[in-house]
Amino acid sequence: MEEQSIERIKCLIIGSGPAGYTAAIYAARADLKPIMYTGMEPGGQLTTTTDVDNFPGYPEGIDGPTMMVQLQQQAERFGTEVRMGMVTEVKLSKDHGGIHKACVDNKTWVEAETVIISTGATAKYLGLPSEQRLRGGGVSACAVCDGFFYKGQDVAIVGGGDTAAEEATYLANICNKVTMLVRKGEMRASKAMQHRVTNTENIDLRYFTEIDEVLGEQVVEGLRMVNNQTNEKEEIKITGLFIAIGHKPNTEIFSGQLDMDDAGYLLTKGKSTKTNLPGVFASGDVQDKEYRQAVTAAGTGCMAALDAERYLATVETQEEVKA
Ligand code: NDP
Repeated sequence: MEEQSIERIKCLIIGSGPAGYTAAIYAARADLKPIMYTGMEPGGQLTTTTDVDNFPGYPEGIDGPTMMVQLQQQAERFGTEVRMGMVTEVKLSKDHGGIHKACVDNKTWVEAETVIISTGATAKYLGLPSEQRLRGGGVSACAVCDGFFYKGQDVAIVGGGDTAAEEATYLANICNKVTMLVRKGEMRASKAMQHRVTNTENIDLRYFTEIDEVLGEQVVEGLRMVNNQTNEKEEIKITGLFIAIGHKPNTEIFSGQLDMDDAGYLLTKGKSTKTNLPGVFASGDVQDKEYRQAVTAAGTGCMAALDAERYLATVETQEEVKA
């Protein structure tokens, strides 16, 4: 598409989760006048979670959407400009001091001296044809968004991580019964979350169990489960199916330009947020498949802003020496 730059900025932040907003707070306070594009899901993954009980400073916990609104207000207080919009293409410079270009919503190009990538990760699906057919018809990857529709009904959830455990207990509060399918003989979730699951009466926890097929034409009517040890199949009636099997990093637009691991997570250098390109930094879940916590994402967002500030100082020094 035709390149039409409307503005040149010092610091572009892509993505609006805890990493992006923390980067914005630090970058704005360092006078980098950051502009943030929120992406398709303003506030990121935390807007689909209930209580965040493990973010330091909230003794009573806080709900995810409120936390994200407050982070946005904090970033804006120091002058961050938060814009709705999706970065759809980038042309990143390989040169120290080079200008990076980002296209927003397939329309407008922005030029930036530094780019902080905090595009996060997106929920994965199993990929079964019956699951895909019934997405929006009872299959969901967000219990907190859609659980309400299944009030008093029987539902199922797939996954054995913290997300699945958290969502299963959330659903158990609203629904009549929650069948939880875990493909191994153990859950990956933390012990505390596992206890919450096993102590909840209306969660029927099934180990070594996977989905054979989601039943129903237009809407979910049931599930055929299979025990992967015995191959025994069993059908249950449900109206909602929740998939909670992890996430995929949102890095497609950087493919071929930035170094990534096999799963598509951006690679950063040493303990920094530096990518393989000068002036481009990565923070939050897009570069972290290990910790993936709001607080660690926020920490790397802070690091990215500091790295960007230091990088710009080296560029300015170089220009002064040349002059
Ligand atoms: P995880 O990657 O931790 O867990 C994914 C789960 O889904 C695993 O049990 C995995 O099984 C299972 N799974 C993956 N693929 C399939 C498949 N095809 N079929 C069936 N099961 C499958 O993802 P989460 O989203 O749960 O958590 C991500 C990160 O976020 C973690 O670090 C977690 O600790 C954190 N988190 C923290 C929370 C909190 O502290 N309040 C809340 C939610 C998340 P297997 O184990 O067999 O691979």
